[in-house]
Amino acid sequence: MARELNAIVSETILVNAETLIVRVVPDGWELAEHQPGQYCVIGLPGSAPRCDLSEPDEKEVDPDKMIIRAYSIASGSNQQKHMEFYVTLVRSGALTPRLFSLKRGDRIHLGQKVTGVFTLKEIPEDANLVLMATGTGLAPYMSMIRTFLTPESKRRFCVIHGARHSWDLGYSAQLSLLNGLLPHFDYIPVISRPQDEITPWGGESGYIQDIWKRGLVAERWGEKPCAETTHAFLCGNPSMVVDTLVLLEAEGFSEHTRKVAGEVHLERYW
Ligand SMILES: Cc1cc2nc3c(=O)[nH]c(=O)nc-3n(C[C@H](O)[C@H](O)[C@H](O)COP(=O)(O)OP(=O)(O)OC[C@H]3O[C@@H](n4cnc5c(N)ncnc54)[C@H](O)[C@@H]3O)c2cc1C
Repeated sequence: MARELNAIVSETILVNAETLIVRVVPDGWELAEHQPGQYCVIGLPGSAPRCDLSEPDEKEVDPDKMIIRAYSIASGSNQQKHMEFYVTLVRSGALTPRLFSLKRGDRIHLGQKVTGVFTLKEIPEDANLVLMATGTGLAPYMSMIRTFLTPESKRRFCVIHGARHSWDLGYSAQLSLLNGLLPHFDYIPVISRPQDEITPWGGESGYIQDIWKRGLVAERWGEKPCAETTHAFLCGNPSMVVDTLVLLEAEGFSEHTRKVAGEVHLERYW
């Protein structure tokens, strides 16, 4: 099937100049059902303009060819009107500089197929969850939270979100609110460059790995998360994913693969 501009941008929200939340509505067709944690593709033609902050295209781009990339779905699977995506600008990238030029009402390609196994589908309903992400790796967890987190949830959720600065922490207002409202939901934002903050940062500093090593999840939960009770999800920057996996494996967790069931689930963005 030809790739068309088959959807409309219904909302763009700039978290900061290099981080974008974009909502897309299908034009005349129904969204497929998705499981929280899955992804689909979005795209724009080479003729779409690049945003001011970007660098020029690295390679010559065919103006008629659709540039397609995968994005985790951030919206919950319990609403079917739009799909939400949480996107970081790669200044030299082919697609993201074009996404950052989008305005409400612009047309975009939205893939009709949804895919991915980074989901809660095979996880016991009472297993606790530690959801660790850098940057826009938070997107699949927003979908999980929006779909499954209720005041009655039996399991504990802990979101650890790493970014360089406090202003890079998208969705932090929503997650902080949930942290205050629900005793079984914890949100631990962590920034790696506290020295750049405009006002003193009162939260955690360092990397996701440091939060795990410092035992902050155990402190919040009143018990140490272990492979018998907890599944861990890692999403975003590949070095965070690899380094944190090593830490978890040293504590008895094992990687979940298509062939072997484990308690650590990985999604690498590049
Ligand atoms: C399953 C899956 C889900 C994804 N979901 C998301 C998502 O929800 N949000 C999102 O922003 N990206 C996501 N990505 C990455 C996305 O597909 C693109 O690779 C990214 O947006 C860059 O596209 P581009 O065309 O601008 O850059 P390209 O021209 O394709 O350049 C690719 C290079 O950009 C760098 N890069 C890619 N992604 C990032 C990033 N997030 N942060 C910093 N550098 C990066 C890497 O060096 C990579 O080699 C996902 C990737 C996969 C495989």
